Amino acid sequence: MALIVQKYGGTSVNGPERVKNVARRVVNTRRAGNEVVVIVSAPGDMTDDLIAMAHEISPNPPAREMDMLLATGEQTSIALLAMAIHELGEPVISLTGPQVGILTDNVHTKARILEVSCDRLHRELAEGKIVIVAGFQGMTCDNEITTLGRGGSDTTAVAVAAALKADVCQIYTDVDGVYTADPRVVPAARKLPVISYDEMLELASLGAQVLQPRSVEFGKLNHVVLEVRSSFNDNEGTLVKEVTEMEKKMVVSGVAGDRNVARIALHDVPDRPGIAKALFVALARESINVDMIVQSAMRDGINDIAFTVGRDDLRKAVEVTERVRAEIGASKVTYNDKVAKVSIVGAGMITNPGVAAEMFACLAEEGINIHMISTSEIKVSCIIDEEYLTRAMQSLHSRFGLEKE
Ligand code: ASP
Ligand code: MG
Repeated sequence: MALIVQKYGGTSVNGPERVKNVARRVVNTRRAGNEVVVIVSAPGDMTDDLIAMAHEISPNPPAREMDMLLATGEQTSIALLAMAIHELGEPVISLTGPQVGILTDNVHTKARILEVSCDRLHRELAEGKIVIVAGFQGMTCDNEITTLGRGGSDTTAVAVAAALKADVCQIYTDVDGVYTADPRVVPAARKLPVISYDEMLELASLGAQVLQPRSVEFGKLNHVVLEVRSSFNDNEGTLVKEVTEMEKKMVVSGVAGDRNVARIALHDVPDRPGIAKALFVALARESINVDMIVQSAMRDGINDIAFTVGRDDLRKAVEVTERVRAEIGASKVTYNDKVAKVSIVGAGMITNPGVAAEMFACLAEEGINIHMISTSEIKVSCIIDEEYLTRAMQSLHSRFGLEKE
C-alpha cells in the first residue's frame, strides 16, 4: 500500500461537475489500495475575486484580515470535495490547515511553513479515511490564520508529502506536465518526462507557472518526488526529481519568456565604493525585488548601472532611483517597460561550453538586439524588446532541438 498525496488546483475544482470528477479520481486511487491525502486550492478565480472584493472595501486591508478572507476559498473546496467523495461511498474527512497543524511564521499573506504536524493526519488515515486538506493556509503559534502567497497550495502539498514521507506527491493541474516552452507561444513545445529540481526552480521563477517556486525548493530539500499531471486526462505527466549526471541528456531543457519586466538605468554614476549599496538598499527598503543587475565598464571614473524589476514595481522603483540619483550626483534615470526576458535553462549547460554563444548567435540571426544578459550555471537570460519575445522563444526552441520528434 502506497501513501499518495494529490493536489488539485483551482481549475480542477471549478464547479460541481469538476469537483465530482476529482472525487472519482481520488476514490479510484483509494480503491486501488492506496492511502490518499488530497490538497485542494480555492475554486477557479475565487482567490482573485476575494482580493478584488477586499479592495472595494479598503485600498489597504489589514493583512491579518486578508488572510481570514482568503482562507475561506480553500475551505469552500475541501467541504465540497469531501461531500462528493462521501456521495461515492468512501469514508472521508476535510480539514483546514490549522486543524491539521500546519504551523507557519507570522508573515501574513506570504507566510512560510515551519512544521506540519502528522498526528491528526495519521489518526484519520488509520481509520481508513481519505483526508482532504485545505491548501495555501496555516496557523501561527498564536493561533492566527495565515496564507502562503499566491499559488501556495503547491507548497502545502509538498510540505504534507514531506512530513508524511509519502511515496509520491502528484500535482494535478490544467496542463498535463512541464513543457520545453509554453505551448501557447511555441506550438512545437514537447512535454518533458523528467526534469531536475534545479531546472524546474529556474523555469518556475522564470514565469513557467506550473508550480510555485517555493514548492520546488521544498521538494528538493526534502527529497519529495513531484509528478505534474492533468486532472482532465490520464496522460503521463512530468516527474520533478533529482536527476543524475547520466540522465542529463539534453543541454537545454526549456525556453521561458517573461513579459513582467521593466528596465531602469542610472547614468553617469561616479565610480566609488558605496554607490551600488545606496541604490539597492534603498530599493530593498521599499520591498522592490530586483532581478538582473548590470554595471557597465568604467570610463573616466564614471559608469552606468542598469537593472530590472517587475512592472508593478516600476513606478516606485523609478522614484527611489531618482532620489538616489540626486544624492550621489548621477546624470539621469531612464526606464523602459516594453522589454521582456527570454531564457534558456538546462542542467547540461555546466559541462557544455558555448551554449550562451549559441543563444546570442540565434538572436543575432533573427536581428534581435540584446539589452542585458545574465547567466547562472544552468540558465542564460537576455533582456530584449518585448515585441520580439515570441519570435525569440520559437527560434531558440528550434535552435536547441527541443521540438517534437
Ligand atoms: N488559491 C490560492 C491562489 O489562487 C492558492 C493556490 O491556488 O495555490 O493563489
Ligand atoms: Mg489558484
